[in-house]
Amino acid sequence: MNLYRVRAVVLNSREMRDAHRVLTLYSRENGKIRAVAHGVNKPSSRKRGAVQPFSFSDFLLRRGRELDTVNQCEGLEVFPALWGDLERMGYAAHATELVDGLTADGEPNGTVFDLLLHTLRRLEKAVDAELVVRGLELRLVSVLGYRPRLDGCVNCGSGETGSGTVFSAGDGGLVCKSCSTAAGRVPCSGETVAVMKLMLDWDPAKLDRLRVSHRSRRELQVVMREYLQWLTEVRPRSLHFLESVRRGSS
Ligand SMILES: [Zn+2]
Repeated sequence: MNLYRVRAVVLNSREMRDAHRVLTLYSRENGKIRAVAHGVNKPSSRKRGAVQPFSFSDFLLRRGRELDTVNQCEGLEVFPALWGDLERMGYAAHATELVDGLTADGEPNGTVFDLLLHTLRRLEKAVDAELVVRGLELRLVSVLGYRPRLDGCVNCGSGETGSGTVFSAGDGGLVCKSCSTAAGRVPCSGETVAVMKLMLDWDPAKLDRLRVSHRSRRELQVVMREYLQWLTEVRPRSLHFLESVRRGSS
């Protein structure tokens, strides 16, 4: 029998007939894994907590031709507070969907794994779930090679971005007022730029102390939504290509 053990976060847990679940897991060693767990929807099943979304669990898996099979599992951290709060649950779902959407099967990335687990732990006790998740988004795109350029205009190179500055997803960074003619570019104030820089460079644990205005939160939400949409819809192949290039060169 081809058995292996991994510790993984449950990205997705889909209910199937006969009390089965098809799981999408993300592990440090093996990256994304798809596995079927038998009989876990029975009320008596002790595996239920371990296979629910967001859980960080220990799995003993058997390799299969298409899907692996869960032989044993045990929840290590099941994040009960996330399940008791709709807002935090929504952010946790967004975080796991993001990792699922930006990674390919069987391509491990330890930094992505650490970011995800760290994010879930912070959401579990979060002071500010919205900023925790914005920080994850920014750090995740950077890990994958798409760190946004925030030190000046991507078009003319001017460091004086000032008022009227926008964020251009397609250009991967800020565009100054005089260059910002094209549609589809979103406002990005000085405060928002400063917050993004802090999120990229700071110890994320310190982000709980960050104070961000309502306006800047909305800007950041739109900036990241546009950027992620561009990355996942327009450039999915290059994202995976880039990951494989990096693995090859490391
Ligand atoms: Zn410019």
